[in-house]
Amino acid sequence: MRGLRESRVARAVFLVALGFLAACNRAQTESASRDNQRKIWEDFSGEKTMAHVQTMVDFGPRPPATEAIEKTRTYLTKQLELFGWKVVRQTFSDDTPRGKVEFVNLIATFAAKDTAPSFLICSHYDTKTFDTATFVGANDAGSSTGVLLELARVLAERPDLARKTELVFFDGEEAYQAFTETDGLYGSRYFAKQLAAQNKTEQFRGGVLLDMVGDRSLNITLPPDSPAEMASGIFAAADALKLRKYFTYFDRDIMDDHTPLNEAGIPTIDLIDFDYAPWHTPNDTIDKLSPESLRIVGAVTAYYLSEIALK
Ligand SMILES: [Zn+2]
Repeated sequence: MRGLRESRVARAVFLVALGFLAACNRAQTESASRDNQRKIWEDFSGEKTMAHVQTMVDFGPRPPATEAIEKTRTYLTKQLELFGWKVVRQTFSDDTPRGKVEFVNLIATFAAKDTAPSFLICSHYDTKTFDTATFVGANDAGSSTGVLLELARVLAERPDLARKTELVFFDGEEAYQAFTETDGLYGSRYFAKQLAAQNKTEQFRGGVLLDMVGDRSLNITLPPDSPAEMASGIFAAADALKLRKYFTYFDRDIMDDHTPLNEAGIPTIDLIDFDYAPWHTPNDTIDKLSPESLRIVGAVTAYYLSEIALK
């Protein structure tokens, strides 16, 4: 009798526990699918992006191999880790018109056991070297670096998307003299070369590059040789968010960090506003930027990634 009651109690406890586990599982699945419906483009904050840009501008001019760019790296790494990304430094040196210089690309990935990232999101974070002027590069490249950081935050809300991406912060985009085969694009050239050497270019089916995206009077000028399907995707994303008027084509080709990636066979689109009067002048300061412009580019990129490119 006693034994029977005990076993009935045990059975009842077992069933309750089973029910509880099932409920937990259901709750987990529901919260995961809720997460998967999260509209990350609505969460992208222009204000948060602006605060990142301000922090970097406050470090001062940030050319390669300076104390200020090292501070920038530390800041970027801490923020990315805070959002749940793992950061690896890709350090290399290259010959420049100023002799050998050490450069560091930062590569961030989101915890993934069995899936390798298949899409690149990039920006350079160095500023152009000027000997006689103070150049803080609020737009070039503070703005795009800030947008990439804020994208890291909102992507982390959607681990299913974040796991598909690799964020790359390029060093040494700027030429010391003029863009040639051997001056400028140091970071992206090295990154592309390493991918090819490791037979990893095919791992990536595309990429988005951001550069100079904070001008108050925003006018994103896509290079005419942008991968057509990606350009359509960006226009569609902008359309969906009623921001289409900020996106158009530039009238000539643009050499930027997307060039070595495209040459390596990874279709990459450059979201750049080349219609920026203070470009490469000491007037490229934070007062030329607006949180709204940063938000527009960030939201369109987030929408494009979530609803089109990584779908
Ligand atoms: Zn520049």
